[in-house]
Amino acid sequence: MKNQPLKIVIVGGVAGGATAAARARRVNANAEIILLEKGPTVSFANCGLPYHLGGEISDRGQLLVATRELFQNRFRVQVHTGYTVDTIDRAAQTVSGHTLEGATFSIAYDKLILSTGSEPLRPDFCNVEANNVFNLWTLDDMDRILSCVKTPECRSATVIGAGFVGLEVVEQLARRNVSVTLVERLPQVLGPLDAEMAKMVELELVRHNIRVFLNASVSKLHTTDGKVSTVQLANGESIATDLVIVGAGVRPRIELAQAAGLTIGQSGGVAINEFCQTSDANIYAVGDMVEYFHGVLDKPIRVPLAGPANRAGRIAGSHAARPSSSGRMSPVQGTSIVRVFDLTAGITGLNERACNLNAIACRTAIIQAPHHASYFPGAKNLTLKLIYSPESRRVLGAQAVGAEGVDKRLDVVATLLHFKGTIDDLAGLDLAYAPPFGSAKDPVHNAAFVAQNDLDHYPRLVASNANLEGQQIVDVRNKAEIEKLPLPDAIHIPVDEIASRWEELDPAKPTVVVCHSAKRAHVAASWLQGKGFQTVYNLSGGMSIRKLTE
Ligand SMILES: Cc1cc2nc3c(=O)[nH]c(=O)nc-3n(C[C@H](O)[C@H](O)[C@H](O)COP(=O)(O)OP(=O)(O)OC[C@H]3O[C@@H](n4cnc5c(N)ncnc54)[C@H](O)[C@@H]3O)c2cc1C
Repeated sequence: MKNQPLKIVIVGGVAGGATAAARARRVNANAEIILLEKGPTVSFANCGLPYHLGGEISDRGQLLVATRELFQNRFRVQVHTGYTVDTIDRAAQTVSGHTLEGATFSIAYDKLILSTGSEPLRPDFCNVEANNVFNLWTLDDMDRILSCVKTPECRSATVIGAGFVGLEVVEQLARRNVSVTLVERLPQVLGPLDAEMAKMVELELVRHNIRVFLNASVSKLHTTDGKVSTVQLANGESIATDLVIVGAGVRPRIELAQAAGLTIGQSGGVAINEFCQTSDANIYAVGDMVEYFHGVLDKPIRVPLAGPANRAGRIAGSHAARPSSSGRMSPVQGTSIVRVFDLTAGITGLNERACNLNAIACRTAIIQAPHHASYFPGAKNLTLKLIYSPESRRVLGAQAVGAEGVDKRLDVVATLLHFKGTIDDLAGLDLAYAPPFGSAKDPVHNAAFVAQNDLDHYPRLVASNANLEGQQIVDVRNKAEIEKLPLPDAIHIPVDEIASRWEELDPAKPTVVVCHSAKRAHVAASWLQGKGFQTVYNLSGGMSIRKLTE
């Protein structure tokens, strides 16, 4: 019995499962490793599916990241596709199930790794007999959507759900010259972002002729000749369509784990420890089906993203194959990013809404800065919103939207969040700089400087959507800017005249200084504060952001 090799069985052969299998082999050459996948393919690139739809990834084969043959020949992993696991017998340490052909199987394990993923939500309105309503979840889904899109009759599509995948699909369908309508239940696109940041993405969609319906619930899909022809909204509007793609969220696939009596956490995912072990030490779980500890919220949450699934798969594979492995699953922060036509948008950590919901005190700074030196050709502005604690000065999250350089800024802040850094840590980071790549003061530095000024009352920020009634509003923009975007009831003193005209203002009145992006307002507000004005604020993000909040 002692000479039997360790037997590792893995259920689910895509992101988390495939990673676990390859890692387990690398740390243990003797283990018997069996990968069971109910679908026809292992290790395909779910994240790449939208891009083949639009033709940006032209070769479908590129989506097959590692084939069954590679697993078998290089890693000596036994791959069984078309194998659905139905039950786990924890006492006997076996998994049982059925094959596509209808045969049954029962396989013993010493260590079991579950990576069964999640599945797309299908709201009630999807219950129609129609062959043109899809989720985009598997290669098969992608193939079916593509064959529909390629027919000459398919001129219009409705995408339901403006999350990350929904927006990728919108962009890719538009690349195929399909006229796209986007329907979202929330008052904004991209729910994880704060409203003013998401607004920039909405405007980008509109700029690319996408019809966007917000605050819009689908009540019914009307069919004609076995196809959905009209999407009916609860407000009575109806949208004629040739194709419907539903991206209305996901739910974790936990039935197998639940039936086996494994502990399910409060967020609805399987509870795991830092080695990705479930409440049964011989069973690991990773990916969309589990909950991870969130490093800023300090509690477990579900994060259905590929990064955590891959990292957790590696940890579980290591620990199952060699329990002395040093790897531990680090807290997550929900770092995510999407490209929407010429813009990129993303988030790491908490947004302002999540802070409020969880009663976490926060302040925010919004800056706009070129993604590299402004004088170097091709500089493009990006907007960065930093969320931080007024008490500990710890950074709680960041969001960025822009044409270039968004990923780099988010990843810098994500790294800072990992180490629980403060705005002062962020201000002091020694980052790579030459004009083609960044600025001597990078946008992340600028955001940190603004946050420091805010907390140090030098001067303080007021929220971009604040009610300014009763305040002395000083608008330091130039005349042309004010004509383009007026701010009622403001006293107009251009920034370069503030040093000579400040005595026209009342130093005893609470004063809010305003400009386009809060940069010039900072100069003017600092001057007024230096001249003894008692309460001076700078309008966060300036008028360019305030207009997005209206
Ligand atoms: C279109 C699309 C785009 C995406 N884009 C991104 C992105 O850009 N960035 C990002 O971070 N994330 C993205 N994701 C999410 C990411 O793909 C998932 O978070 C990740 O794949 C989760 O890995 P997993 O191993 O938990 O599940 P999966 O990769 O989904 O694998 C689960 C596998 O388990 C199998 N399975 C389930 N139950 C059983 C059973 N009982 N028996 C046998 N097999 C079973 C399933 O068939 C499935 O193949 C995207 C997802 C989709 C669908």
